[in-house]
Amino acid sequence: MPPSQLENLFRRIPAVDQILEQSRALVKRYPREVLVEEIRRLQEEWREYIRENDALPGEEFQAGLERRFAALERPSLRRVINATGVVLHTNLGRAPLSSGNGTLGYSNLEFDLAQGERGQRDVHVADLLERLLGTASIILNNNAAATYLILRALAGGREVIVSRGELIEIGDGFRIPEIMAQAGVVLREVGSTNRTHLRDYEEAINENTALIVRVHPSNFRIEGFTGRPALSEICELAHAHGVPVYDDLGSGNLVDLREAGIDEPLVSRSLADGADIVSFSGDKLLGGPQAGIVSGRPDLIIRVRRHPMYRTLRVGKLVLEAMEHTLRSIYFRRYAEVPMLRMILATPGEVEERARAFVALPGGPALEEFGLTVRRGQSMIGGGSTPGQSLETALLALPCVHPERAAAWLREPWENGEERAPVVCRIEKQTLLFDLRTVFPVEEMELMEALLTLPREWIGPR
Ligand SMILES: *Cc1c(COP(=O)(O)O)cnc(C)c1O
Repeated sequence: MPPSQLENLFRRIPAVDQILEQSRALVKRYPREVLVEEIRRLQEEWREYIRENDALPGEEFQAGLERRFAALERPSLRRVINATGVVLHTNLGRAPLSSGNGTLGYSNLEFDLAQGERGQRDVHVADLLERLLGTASIILNNNAAATYLILRALAGGREVIVSRGELIEIGDGFRIPEIMAQAGVVLREVGSTNRTHLRDYEEAINENTALIVRVHPSNFRIEGFTGRPALSEICELAHAHGVPVYDDLGSGNLVDLREAGIDEPLVSRSLADGADIVSFSGDKLLGGPQAGIVSGRPDLIIRVRRHPMYRTLRVGKLVLEAMEHTLRSIYFRRYAEVPMLRMILATPGEVEERARAFVALPGGPALEEFGLTVRRGQSMIGGGSTPGQSLETALLALPCVHPERAAAWLREPWENGEERAPVVCRIEKQTLLFDLRTVFPVEEMELMEALLTLPREWIGPR
């Protein structure tokens, strides 16, 4: 396009003053400098569009600006309907929480109400943890922080013994050997990838050994010719040499879930076996907010708590509130109050009953015509824990001509300018699968409404 014609197009971009004149509603709602800033950005986008397309954008500038402010007001972090059946979905925030009672305002976070003086934030969860685990605990930002601080506080500058079979990567680049290096400890690897013997540990112990570390291989299994000593054997050996043992449990169950078919190490078991200090995530199988809990011998807990880095890794009041809520429900065995436990403990029969009732909801019969059926399947635990462990479930199956497009449509956070909760589901061959195990009952109507918006020509058998 000749430069003169391009110039003509550029000239059709409205000027800032002209737009401000036309945007009474926006002028009332937003500070002038923010409005000007966004107008400038939109003008720049228009210029770019014109350079690339030799044409004006299809939309009025004014309308584009309004759409822009509407988009800016929409929260980025939003609720999502998790119909994947992956209970601890790492991408969807791991353990879901029930809403607490809201201490967003002032609270007694660090105030002793009885004495009227400064208190400690730890106390809000320490009593419940003491009841659940029989020992002292502190809470940090996550289990990665717990691993780091324990190593740093208890073994900084000294040697730490770990089996080569446990030098794992958790995800997102979190590797045990690298954390150890950052914590300033000297890693002393023993054994081999698949087998480590008690005598391997014994031979490595010397006067500079600060800690023996055990790491639960949360996210993988080595099968075949494998073996490692029992934790109780390691503890007996370590204690004979005056060396403490730290067990990184990863998921760390407080509730025995074996009846539901989930076999993960119990925190209480590890402490009973003799571990001097343990750590585990708050938002894996515990079912609470993101946090890392450190429990064990009071003298060791105090050393970790007093380390100067504690302050950089401690949790805020929102986390403490949610954790206290979760721990109380667990202590009183009110598992139905912890969404994650409720989801795991739901029987396949209960999920199937909900799935059948779902098809009978208003709108369900229409979808049934398009082939929505209930079938058996598996829910996953997920969250980097319990590799290969799954739960029997019932799935809603919707055959699709364009499953990828349909799934992308359901993930859209708005429909005709109206907000809606995005739905995340599974795709298997030509079928969308929805697992109500991970969908809150109050979300079922929303899920149905979302399904009914799917373009008809995309669904049904090919
Ligand atoms: C998940 C996990 C971690 C990290 O815990 P976050 O709470 O995600 O920081 C550390 N160690 C093990 C063994 C784990 O499974």
